[in-house]
Amino acid sequence: MAKRLKRKARDWPEIERQLARLFDLLGLDLSQPELVRTPGRVARMYKEIFAGHYTGQEPKITVFPNDKKYTSMVIVRDVPFYSVCAHHIIPFFGVGHMAYLPAARIAGLSKLARTLEFFARRPQVQERLTEQVADFLNRKLEPRGVMVVLEARHLCMEMRGVEKPGSLTVTSTMRGLFEDSAEGGRFRMEFMNHIGRAGSVPR
Ligand code: ZN
Repeated sequence: MAKRLKRKARDWPEIERQLARLFDLLGLDLSQPELVRTPGRVARMYKEIFAGHYTGQEPKITVFPNDKKYTSMVIVRDVPFYSVCAHHIIPFFGVGHMAYLPAARIAGLSKLARTLEFFARRPQVQERLTEQVADFLNRKLEPRGVMVVLEARHLCMEMRGVEKPGSLTVTSTMRGLFEDSAEGGRFRMEFMNHIGRAGSVPR
Protein backbone atom coordinates (compact mmCIF):
# COMPACT_ATOMS: atom_id res chain seq x y z
CA MET A 1 0.00 0.00 0.00
CA ALA A 2 2.70 2.47 1.02
CA LYS A 3 4.72 1.54 -2.06
CA ARG A 4 1.84 2.18 -4.42
CA LEU A 5 1.18 5.52 -2.73
CA LYS A 6 4.80 6.56 -3.10
CA ARG A 7 4.93 5.70 -6.82
CA LYS A 8 1.72 7.56 -7.53
CA ALA A 9 2.83 10.51 -5.43
CA ARG A 10 5.67 11.17 -7.87
CA ASP A 11 3.21 11.73 -10.72
CA TRP A 12 2.88 15.48 -10.18
CA PRO A 13 1.08 16.26 -13.49
CA GLU A 14 -1.57 13.69 -12.54
CA ILE A 15 -1.83 15.22 -9.06
CA GLU A 16 -2.36 18.60 -10.68
CA ARG A 17 -5.15 17.19 -12.87
CA GLN A 18 -6.82 15.54 -9.87
CA LEU A 19 -6.60 18.76 -7.84
CA ALA A 20 -8.26 20.61 -10.72
CA ARG A 21 -11.01 17.97 -10.68
CA LEU A 22 -11.39 18.32 -6.90
CA PHE A 23 -11.64 22.12 -7.03
CA ASP A 24 -14.16 21.80 -9.85
CA LEU A 25 -16.24 19.36 -7.76
CA LEU A 26 -16.07 21.87 -4.92
CA GLY A 27 -17.73 24.35 -7.26
CA LEU A 28 -14.72 26.62 -7.76
CA ASP A 29 -14.47 28.35 -11.12
CA LEU A 30 -10.99 27.49 -12.34
CA SER A 31 -11.25 29.97 -15.20
CA GLN A 32 -10.99 32.82 -12.70
CA PRO A 33 -7.59 34.50 -13.03
CA GLU A 34 -6.63 33.91 -9.39
CA LEU A 35 -7.56 30.21 -9.61
CA VAL A 36 -6.44 29.26 -13.09
CA ARG A 37 -2.95 28.15 -12.02
CA THR A 38 -3.90 27.05 -8.51
CA PRO A 39 -3.91 23.25 -9.10
CA GLY A 40 -0.29 23.40 -10.26
CA ARG A 41 0.71 25.67 -7.40
CA VAL A 42 -0.93 23.38 -4.86
CA ALA A 43 0.74 20.30 -6.36
CA ARG A 44 4.15 21.99 -6.08
CA MET A 45 3.32 23.09 -2.55
CA TYR A 46 2.58 19.49 -1.52
CA LYS A 47 5.88 18.42 -3.02
CA GLU A 48 7.60 20.96 -0.78
CA ILE A 49 5.71 20.57 2.48
CA PHE A 50 5.69 16.74 2.26
CA ALA A 51 9.35 16.64 1.22
CA GLY A 52 10.42 14.59 4.24
CA HIS A 53 8.01 11.87 3.11
CA TYR A 54 9.75 11.52 -0.25
CA THR A 55 13.42 12.11 0.46
CA GLY A 56 14.47 8.99 2.32
CA GLN A 57 14.14 7.49 5.73
CA GLU A 58 16.08 9.88 7.92
CA PRO A 59 17.76 13.29 7.93
CA LYS A 60 21.38 13.41 6.93
CA ILE A 61 23.28 14.89 9.84
CA THR A 62 26.97 14.73 10.61
CA VAL A 63 28.06 13.74 14.10
CA PHE A 64 31.48 14.11 15.68
CA PRO A 65 33.35 12.20 18.35
CA ASN A 66 33.03 13.93 21.69
CA ASP A 67 36.79 14.47 22.03
CA LYS A 68 36.50 17.19 24.65
CA LYS A 69 34.39 14.85 26.75
CA TYR A 70 31.67 17.47 27.11
CA THR A 71 29.03 15.97 29.36
CA SER A 72 26.75 18.89 30.33
CA MET A 73 23.33 19.25 28.83
CA VAL A 74 23.10 20.68 25.30
CA ILE A 75 19.84 22.54 24.65
CA VAL A 76 18.49 24.04 21.45
CA ARG A 77 15.30 25.94 22.15
CA ASP A 78 12.65 27.87 20.23
CA VAL A 79 13.25 26.14 16.91
CA PRO A 80 10.34 27.08 14.66
CA PHE A 81 8.68 24.28 12.71
CA TYR A 82 5.81 23.94 10.28
CA SER A 83 3.98 20.69 9.70
CA VAL A 84 0.66 19.49 8.35
CA CYS A 85 -1.94 17.67 10.42
CA ALA A 86 -2.36 14.15 9.01
CA HIS A 87 -6.07 14.15 9.88
CA HIS A 88 -7.04 17.39 8.13
CA ILE A 89 -4.10 18.35 5.85
CA ILE A 90 -3.91 21.87 7.21
CA PRO A 91 -0.97 23.30 9.15
CA PHE A 92 0.11 22.90 12.68
CA PHE A 93 3.15 24.93 13.65
CA GLY A 94 5.11 26.13 16.61
CA VAL A 95 8.47 25.71 18.27
CA GLY A 96 10.50 22.77 19.41
CA HIS A 97 13.00 22.48 22.25
CA MET A 98 15.52 19.67 22.23
CA ALA A 99 18.10 18.62 24.80
CA TYR A 100 20.62 15.85 25.06
CA LEU A 101 23.29 14.70 27.46
CA PRO A 102 26.36 13.96 25.33
CA ALA A 103 28.25 10.71 25.58
CA ALA A 104 30.34 9.36 22.69
CA ARG A 105 29.10 11.75 19.99
CA ILE A 106 27.97 15.32 19.51
CA ALA A 107 26.19 17.02 16.62
CA GLY A 108 26.38 20.49 15.13
CA LEU A 109 23.63 22.53 16.79
CA SER A 110 21.86 23.29 13.52
CA LYS A 111 21.48 19.55 13.04
CA LEU A 112 18.93 19.31 15.83
CA ALA A 113 16.83 21.93 14.08
CA ARG A 114 17.24 20.11 10.79
CA THR A 115 16.06 16.88 12.38
CA LEU A 116 12.87 18.55 13.55
CA GLU A 117 12.29 20.10 10.13
CA PHE A 118 12.86 16.79 8.34
CA PHE A 119 10.24 14.92 10.34
CA ALA A 120 7.83 17.88 10.23
CA ARG A 121 7.71 17.93 6.42
CA ARG A 122 5.03 15.30 5.94
CA PRO A 123 1.50 14.70 7.11
CA GLN A 124 2.05 14.35 10.84
CA VAL A 125 0.54 14.09 14.25
CA GLN A 126 2.36 16.10 16.89
CA GLU A 127 2.82 13.14 19.24
CA ARG A 128 4.52 11.07 16.54
CA LEU A 129 6.69 14.00 15.44
CA THR A 130 7.92 14.38 19.02
CA GLU A 131 8.77 10.68 19.26
CA GLN A 132 10.47 10.53 15.87
CA VAL A 133 12.79 13.45 16.71
CA ALA A 134 13.70 11.89 20.07
CA ASP A 135 14.24 8.41 18.61
CA PHE A 136 16.41 9.71 15.80
CA LEU A 137 18.63 11.81 18.10
CA ASN A 138 18.84 8.94 20.55
CA ARG A 139 19.95 6.50 17.86
CA LYS A 140 22.30 8.89 16.06
CA LEU A 141 24.06 10.40 19.09
CA GLU A 142 23.70 7.54 21.57
CA PRO A 143 23.63 10.15 24.35
CA ARG A 144 22.98 9.51 28.02
CA GLY A 145 19.57 11.08 27.53
CA VAL A 146 17.31 13.02 25.18
CA MET A 147 14.27 15.20 25.83
CA VAL A 148 12.05 16.87 23.25
CA VAL A 149 9.22 19.34 23.90
CA LEU A 150 7.02 20.69 21.10
CA GLU A 151 4.48 23.52 21.46
CA ALA A 152 2.16 24.02 18.54
CA ARG A 153 -0.97 25.67 17.25
CA HIS A 154 -3.23 23.45 15.18
CA LEU A 155 -5.27 25.29 12.58
CA CYS A 156 -7.66 22.33 12.45
CA MET A 157 -8.61 23.26 16.04
CA GLU A 158 -8.68 27.00 15.37
CA MET A 159 -10.37 27.66 12.03
CA ARG A 160 -12.73 24.67 12.13
CA GLY A 161 -14.05 22.07 14.57
CA VAL A 162 -13.88 23.28 18.15
CA GLU A 163 -12.59 26.72 17.01
CA LYS A 164 -10.30 27.50 19.88
CA PRO A 165 -7.93 30.15 18.54
CA GLY A 166 -4.59 30.47 20.24
CA SER A 167 -4.69 27.25 22.22
CA LEU A 168 -1.37 25.45 22.41
CA THR A 169 -0.77 21.73 22.26
CA VAL A 170 2.33 20.70 24.18
CA THR A 171 3.95 17.30 23.77
CA SER A 172 7.08 15.98 25.38
CA THR A 173 9.06 12.79 25.44
CA MET A 174 12.21 11.54 27.13
CA ARG A 175 14.85 8.92 26.65
CA GLY A 176 17.65 7.67 28.90
CA LEU A 177 18.60 9.61 32.01
CA PHE A 178 15.77 12.12 31.59
CA GLU A 179 13.32 9.39 32.52
CA ASP A 180 15.56 7.83 35.15
CA SER A 181 13.70 7.52 38.42
CA ALA A 182 16.68 8.64 40.51
CA GLU A 183 18.41 11.28 38.35
CA GLY A 184 15.74 12.23 35.82
CA GLY A 185 14.12 14.89 37.96
CA ARG A 186 17.11 17.19 38.05
CA PHE A 187 17.75 16.88 34.29
CA ARG A 188 14.11 17.57 33.48
CA MET A 189 14.15 20.57 35.79
CA GLU A 190 17.33 21.95 34.23
CA PHE A 191 15.82 21.63 30.76
CA MET A 192 12.47 23.14 31.74
CA ASN A 193 14.22 26.04 33.50
CA HIS A 194 16.12 26.79 30.30
CA ILE A 195 13.13 26.69 28.01
CA GLY A 196 11.06 28.70 30.46
CA ARG A 197 7.42 29.45 30.03
CA ALA A 198 5.67 28.76 26.76
CA GLY A 199 5.06 31.86 24.71
CA SER A 200 7.35 31.90 21.71
CA VAL A 201 4.75 30.40 19.38
CA PRO A 202 3.38 33.20 17.16
CA ARG A 203 -0.24 33.93 18.14
ZN1 ZN B 1 -6.17 18.05 12.49
